[in-house]
Amino acid sequence: MLASKLYAPTLRETPADADVISQQYMLRAGFIRKMANGLYTYLPLAWKSIRKIEAIVREEMERAGSQEIMMPIVQPAEIWQESGRWKVYGAEMIRLKDRHDREYCLGPTHEEMITTLVRNEVNSYRQLPLNLFQMQSKYRDERRPRYGLMRSREFIMKDAYSFDMDEEGLDASYKAMYDAYVRVFTRCGLYFKPVEADSGAIGGSNSHEFMALADAGEADVIHCKNCDYAANIEIGKPAVLKAAVAEPEGKLTLVDTPDAKTIDAVATMLDLPLERTIKAVVYNVDGTVVLAIVRGDHEVNEIALQHAMESTVEPEMASDEDLKRVGLTAGFISPVGLHQTDDFAIVVDETVMEMYNVCGGANKRDAHYININPKRDFDTKDMRIAPIRLITKDDRCPHCGGELELAKGIEVGQVFKLGTKYSEALHATFLNQSGRPSPLVMGCYGIGVSRTLAAAIEQSHDENGIIWPRAIAPFEAVVVPINAKDEQLMSMATTVYDALRKAGVDVLLDDRKERAGVKFKDADLIGYPIRLTISKTTAETSEVEVRIRKDGESFTCKLEDVADVVC
Ligand code: ATP
Ligand code: MG
Ligand code: MG
Ligand code: MG
Repeated sequence: MLASKLYAPTLRETPADADVISQQYMLRAGFIRKMANGLYTYLPLAWKSIRKIEAIVREEMERAGSQEIMMPIVQPAEIWQESGRWKVYGAEMIRLKDRHDREYCLGPTHEEMITTLVRNEVNSYRQLPLNLFQMQSKYRDERRPRYGLMRSREFIMKDAYSFDMDEEGLDASYKAMYDAYVRVFTRCGLYFKPVEADSGAIGGSNSHEFMALADAGEADVIHCKNCDYAANIEIGKPAVLKAAVAEPEGKLTLVDTPDAKTIDAVATMLDLPLERTIKAVVYNVDGTVVLAIVRGDHEVNEIALQHAMESTVEPEMASDEDLKRVGLTAGFISPVGLHQTDDFAIVVDETVMEMYNVCGGANKRDAHYININPKRDFDTKDMRIAPIRLITKDDRCPHCGGELELAKGIEVGQVFKLGTKYSEALHATFLNQSGRPSPLVMGCYGIGVSRTLAAAIEQSHDENGIIWPRAIAPFEAVVVPINAKDEQLMSMATTVYDALRKAGVDVLLDDRKERAGVKFKDADLIGYPIRLTISKTTAETSEVEVRIRKDGESFTCKLEDVADVVC
């Protein structure tokens, strides 16, 4: 490929609404363009990298025994009604109607589709195990689409689904996928950790998230310095602090009350280690009853109580409007891995929260937090609940007692043991060895392909631009003749370019009639792992300057050795 022909319009200025590095660099270097909020066009550079990630994913999925299929993106409402998720999926689902007024959605995920597919085709244990995957655009009307490709509304996902006879089979399928994910992210050059994720109602270690550790990550991960223990904070926190709150039978039905006695009773019931609770607000978020408790010491009780008296939030009054009306500000915490309807939320009174720690919990096992510290843990300005720092120095690894460390993670993949949830709801059964109908035992496995691209940049860049891991770089190398008008330099550059192409290197020739400085700047910004420069000086000795983007190391090599050196 010639740089003069490459469609990669670069920008001088960083677009104002780009708030993370990957988004900034991808816009500036001409990888992506924004079409609308959360909707991006992939230009050739990004698309090349995406296709490389996809190729790695495809290879590893196939190696693990999964077969590729392609399902429709548009999904009929009926199958979601059958599974019961049409209602609960909420606002994240993009819904549409056809000319006959039939309802559909744009697939946010495909459990219903795949289960419907196999229930008509798989009916004997002889057809199991089965593992199918696809790679396609997914649609989620995210509450806050942001960070470019990291949280967009249309994104590329690889989703795989396994079908087994029994739990044992599922364990094997799960392990095969887990191992494939380790290989995928290793090959993509990411620094990642598989962490124990929220596993919902099934319990046990039924899900792992693959977290690329990076400051821009939206998830909080704790990991042990000593052993491999790592967990998404939403489960790690209660486990570690031993502050997990057992879910009382049924829903929490307590509503807002300024009565300290009642609140203390709730705190006791929930086993929250609060010395003194001064306020609790309970309300309903999309069907989930959420409790928030603000506590304080004696001196400020008066102020806080005053506030509590003035606010009467009924469980159904969960909208921001309603909360504002009673002088409360609502903030949402969406821990990674939790479905929207399971969102954890807290309600904080602005005056009180200046001085107190806030406690919050949801009617969901192990989804409660204590000691959330406003300002430190979330931004009070726009009430985006940001990072929650939940571990203290005294907390220890539940596996080995080692010291714990907190990190930010980008969820690039997740593996999940579904069990028979969907096969039961959608009646996907097979005849087992004793000839009896039995529900298929399922697993689902997702990789955020487009998010992986962004995660790689978040992890690997400097002030000059992107530093691509070679396996997913749009081009592995760029050949730069210092002066493209100089025929001798151009001809040497072409020789190098041809030799590399022959050797199978994905290489770009920067034949543009730009100044060397411009070319170097662009090369750094775009982030080619290797730059090969041909100048008057190197030409004299029939040499090329090889510069490694990652560490800036440079050396010269003979023209005829270039292919060997680069490969
Ligand atoms: P998150 O917690 O970040 O909202 P999720 O848990 O809802 O992600 P999954 O349902 O597990 O996502 O989907 C599988 C993968 O798809 C995720 O691990 C992630 O890499 C990717 N993904 C999910 N939502 C988005 C999005 N809005 N933009 C880009 N990638 C996404
Ligand atoms: Mg997930
Ligand atoms: Mg998640
Ligand atoms: Mg999500």
